[in-house]
Amino acid sequence: MKEKEPEKDKAYDPSAAEERWYAAWLSAGVFHADPARPGEAYSIVIPPPNVTGSLHMGHALNITLQDVLIRYARMNGRNALWLPGTDHAGIATQNVVERELSREGVSRQALGRDAFIARVWKWKEESGGTILRQLKRLGAACDWDRERFTMDEGLSRAVREAFVRLYRKGLIYRGRYIINWCPRCHTALSDLEVSYEEKKGALWHIRYPELSGGEGVVVATTRPETMLGDTAVAVNPKDERYAERIGSTLRLPLMNRPIPLIADAMVDREFGTGAVKITPAHDPNDFEVGKRHELPSVRVIDGSGKMTSDAGAFAGMDRFDCREAVVAKLAEEGLLVREEPYLHNVGHCYRCRTVVEPAESMQWFVKTKPLAEPAIRAVRNGETRIVPAQWEKTYFEWMENIRDWCISRQIWWGHRIPAYHCAACGKTMVEIDPPANCASCGSADMRQEEDVLDTWFSSGLWPFSTMGWPEETPELARYYPTAALVTGFDILFFWVARMMMMGIEFTGKAPFRDVVIHALVRDARGEKMSKTRGNVIDPLEVIGRFGTDAFRFTLVALAAQGRDIRMSDDRVEGYRNFMNKLFQAGRFVGMHVDGETPTELPPALPVVDRWILSRLQRVVDEVRRGVEEFRFNEAGSAFYQFVWHEFCDWYLEMIKPTLSPDAMTGDRMRQRAVLLQVYETLLALGHPFIPFITEELWHTLPGDRGLLYDRPFPASDAAWSDVDVEDDMAHLMEVIRSVRNIRSELNIPPAKKVEIRLKGQPGELAFLRDHEEIVRRLSRAGGVAYADPDYIPVGDATAVVNDIEVCVPLAGLIDFDQEAKRLRKEIEKGNAELLRVAGQLGNARFTANAPADIVDALRDREAALGQKLGKLGKNLELVSRYLS
Ligand SMILES: [Zn+2]
Ligand SMILES: [Zn+2]
Repeated sequence: MKEKEPEKDKAYDPSAAEERWYAAWLSAGVFHADPARPGEAYSIVIPPPNVTGSLHMGHALNITLQDVLIRYARMNGRNALWLPGTDHAGIATQNVVERELSREGVSRQALGRDAFIARVWKWKEESGGTILRQLKRLGAACDWDRERFTMDEGLSRAVREAFVRLYRKGLIYRGRYIINWCPRCHTALSDLEVSYEEKKGALWHIRYPELSGGEGVVVATTRPETMLGDTAVAVNPKDERYAERIGSTLRLPLMNRPIPLIADAMVDREFGTGAVKITPAHDPNDFEVGKRHELPSVRVIDGSGKMTSDAGAFAGMDRFDCREAVVAKLAEEGLLVREEPYLHNVGHCYRCRTVVEPAESMQWFVKTKPLAEPAIRAVRNGETRIVPAQWEKTYFEWMENIRDWCISRQIWWGHRIPAYHCAACGKTMVEIDPPANCASCGSADMRQEEDVLDTWFSSGLWPFSTMGWPEETPELARYYPTAALVTGFDILFFWVARMMMMGIEFTGKAPFRDVVIHALVRDARGEKMSKTRGNVIDPLEVIGRFGTDAFRFTLVALAAQGRDIRMSDDRVEGYRNFMNKLFQAGRFVGMHVDGETPTELPPALPVVDRWILSRLQRVVDEVRRGVEEFRFNEAGSAFYQFVWHEFCDWYLEMIKPTLSPDAMTGDRMRQRAVLLQVYETLLALGHPFIPFITEELWHTLPGDRGLLYDRPFPASDAAWSDVDVEDDMAHLMEVIRSVRNIRSELNIPPAKKVEIRLKGQPGELAFLRDHEEIVRRLSRAGGVAYADPDYIPVGDATAVVNDIEVCVPLAGLIDFDQEAKRLRKEIEKGNAELLRVAGQLGNARFTANAPADIVDALRDREAALGQKLGKLGKNLELVSRYLS
């Protein structure tokens, strides 16, 4: 939606106003939430951005929507808290600092753990949290006095408390397990931190002979290097091909180790030969099989992706080199039966893209089933709503199939697990504070667990740890559970599901009333923004060019539920023009109102005022409904349409005479009062979306005003609603519009006054007759005449509006010869284009292969051309009547 740009010199200059008003809000302390203040609580915790992060489009949308909610709640008299902060982002931050160190030629290991962590803190103080400063540019009404960091002392204490409580309840355990291991980052990754890509590989068929020398069985594998750690071959117990050989002993090629042929229902008879190799140390399914059959586990790949000493002749090789060497050796020994190309999904580390290695190791886990059940119930029974509701299904599916959560990470930056191992007797104690002595043998040599917790463990506690939990603080009592969580769908499981589980476990209450899932911001063509595509739009750059309000309004206007946003300069520019329109309306209002302007409205008002007030009530309701139902785009659109078209384009034009010095004083004062009141309401209505310009304009109005942020949000007043007046005025505007159309279609010069004849029944003409002055002025008519129903408008341009015919006699208005020529030329041009478009659409090969949006656009163009040509033809016929 792009409107004509208003004159430049009268345009609004956002940057100065933005700085001034953000400072004013901060110094007035209006963002600070005080639990002791009255008002029903309304709280939001910010999805904490990574401390390494900087503002991108996703944040901009997320923050804008939260800011709309907070400002709206505050203006509605709620005791509103928006709690900001950042996440320590374990691996991400550690990588940033490690890269910094490597530029200095130092490794993390050489520095040592304590010095490294000190270095990360130093980095955090100096360079971290850039993003919080950027949020201020967006206007975020956060309570900065309550800013939190997931590694703060208070939050760290909450993490230890939560860990110890879960451990004592038996919901945290330590065990050997197959985990996803990144050989580059040297850490375990949760299932969610592994991204899968389809890769071209091979399926190798390998013969495992019988120990006795028989031909044995053929297994198929995509990872032959792991065979060095095989401890069995398995077949399905129902597979008749192998029934007689189950229990026999095979010889593991290359290692020459005896391994059993076992039966397990896990084996798919259809895959490969129906026989699979079992490597408990390097495959999650094989790990389970190994446990069921009590098979030994042989680890042949180490934490760096190198072959271990248990890999025999291959020890010390890189895992991928080893793959080739193993295949070559098998071929040499005549045990490679066949090699076929194979497409399969390969897991990569989400941080560094290294191929993940499934590995068996000792890790810490959260037992998630008992935590997931109440979290599922809370959404089923409506304690928490997920908006839009389509995401509930995804939430249930994930929660119902949840697996235990591996929470230990082998990195240094993060919350170190509060477990202490006795060096003397091996006992492990889990305590909030380090124990002085072993509870079992009394030794003082207690060593803390080396691993740290998954970042999502601490962010899972965020809604209540930030409010002081486990202490019973006034904040917790007042602001928890929170009202809404606004987030992208990509962290629904990473984060939202975990906050639901932890929140219910530790507080007995689900942490949010509503979880609002918003869409993605894409580029103008609908492509996902990415560095490799080079289509990333920087929010701060957009703000620099168009101002924060124009940018925020664009995001709001495009934030339709379940639909991705296509961001482009054109859109933001269009809404920048809207800001200028609002600004100019403010200058106009400023010229006409002053300290003398009455603030009360007289009971009897003219129709035009009753109309704008009635429409205003409706728009107030629409904006309220839009925000309350998280249909932000509907709220934005109602506001935009009303301000630009009804208020600026129509109302301000209609009331100009009553505002002029020629008007009677009483009328003028009354008109000023209505104008001021409508304009004040508009500014308050727009404030949550476009806070800076509305605050700026608010203070240009007369009187001692206080901050708009602190003012009540408009509520509709049914006493001003008047459907009849709205209908009558809609009709009147349509009549004027029809005259304007005739003027533009027939090229009538703007300076020429037209004569209008309105034809219809006297009853239907009465309202127009009463407001003839408006019709005449806004359609630039010299006079308005009223014609009987039997008047035949030969030679008039006409339009039908409801039951009325609008007739404009053309004699003397235009040069008919020239106009006929112009129309013929237009028709010729239109026909030529129509021929071309129809030709393209008639080409079946084109329509089958071209992108759907291009074909759709052509069809729209074809329909529009048809309509235009119809009109041009009618006008030519009309003009031709005057030709000599
Ligand atoms: Zn990695
Ligand atoms: Zn001990």
